[in-house]
Amino acid sequence: MAQFNWMGEFQDPEKEKHFRDEQWPRIRHKMQFVYAVTAVIYLLAGFADFCELGVGPELNILLAGRALAAMAGFTAFYQLYLNKKDIVRHTATVCAYMSVVMGTEIIELILKAPITSTMTISATSFVVLICYLFFPPRLIAPLIGCLGGSVLYIAAMLFFTSLPFTSMSTTILSFCLANCCGIYFFIHMEKAKRREFSALTELRNLVEIDELTQVFSRRKVLEMGQFFFKSARRFHTPGSVLMVDIDHFKRFNDTFGHHTGDRILAGVASRCKHALREVDSFGRLGGEEFIVFLPQCTLRQALIAAERIRTTVCNTPFHTDQGELSVTISIGAAELHPDHTDLSCLIRDADMQLYRAKAKGRNRIIHAAA
Ligand code: GH3
Ligand code: MG
Ligand code: MG
Repeated sequence: MAQFNWMGEFQDPEKEKHFRDEQWPRIRHKMQFVYAVTAVIYLLAGFADFCELGVGPELNILLAGRALAAMAGFTAFYQLYLNKKDIVRHTATVCAYMSVVMGTEIIELILKAPITSTMTISATSFVVLICYLFFPPRLIAPLIGCLGGSVLYIAAMLFFTSLPFTSMSTTILSFCLANCCGIYFFIHMEKAKRREFSALTELRNLVEIDELTQVFSRRKVLEMGQFFFKSARRFHTPGSVLMVDIDHFKRFNDTFGHHTGDRILAGVASRCKHALREVDSFGRLGGEEFIVFLPQCTLRQALIAAERIRTTVCNTPFHTDQGELSVTISIGAAELHPDHTDLSCLIRDADMQLYRAKAKGRNRIIHAAA
């Protein structure tokens, strides 16, 4: 199946949503800028209209149109400022704004019909191209606003102006070119942005996810640990750490081979992960050793979680090519304490308890005195 749909968006809705959520803050600011600039240009265009038309009812109608377009721009700007909408819902606003802009262009064309020139019309096809390039949310907006607007604009030109045939055909061609180039570049840019996003996501996963066990890597879990430590300190909330280590893992490798060892390692990681809450951070520290950060957990609560992990791993054997293999784990637990000056202090504490659990015969949970 192709990766992109006809609008240059991801076929996979989950992936597309992820992409939009990440892009939206950046796009939001860029679009605010474009709305503000185009709205101001529309206000300034009123002066050019005055010079061309002079005072009269035509000027009043055109100024009303310009004011409406500028107001639509400032409203869209304010809507983004409030940040009430997401990228998909904002598409309707973009579509409405483009329709107002094209509507104003059509009014201008009709009112200036006697004095209109190819130059004025070409400027509008340039506006069409700009809309494709600078209003990025979804292709559907410029398709309705620009393509639809261009068709109406050409119709108005045919009916209301008396330009020579050659000028008209040149104008139609310039609109066709503006729309074709606009659509091409729009889709091309959307695809390029998504390709870059996919590559970055893949790279991030390589750094943050441990390939064998598919849990957080050492680097990522320790980064999460720093956040856990800082927020517990900042908000004066409890927090605990568990160090988890597979017992006699070397024997599995030596007896059944590394392939089976790998399967067991991944199985243990998966069981631990599923025994924890979503807010807990779980990752592989290295070898057959894992770490868990339990925010908002006192030592008593952490011990309940630790026992849940231990029984989940130990009570059911693992199915492997070498038959059913039972695995036990040892866990060292420590609760965050005012004496812990930094994260490594707390981890060292839990590690010491793990060491004691090993010394006391393994397959158990040992904790520092609270
Ligand atoms: P203890 O109960 O004291 O923890 O004993 P242990 O054998 O589990 O611990 P030890 O530190 O002596 O050995 C750890 C073993 O884990 C050694 C190494 O071969 C194995 N190991 C580390 N990383 C991997 C891996 O990615 N895959 C496999 N299959 N084995 C690994
Ligand atoms: Mg071990
Ligand atoms: Mg170990």
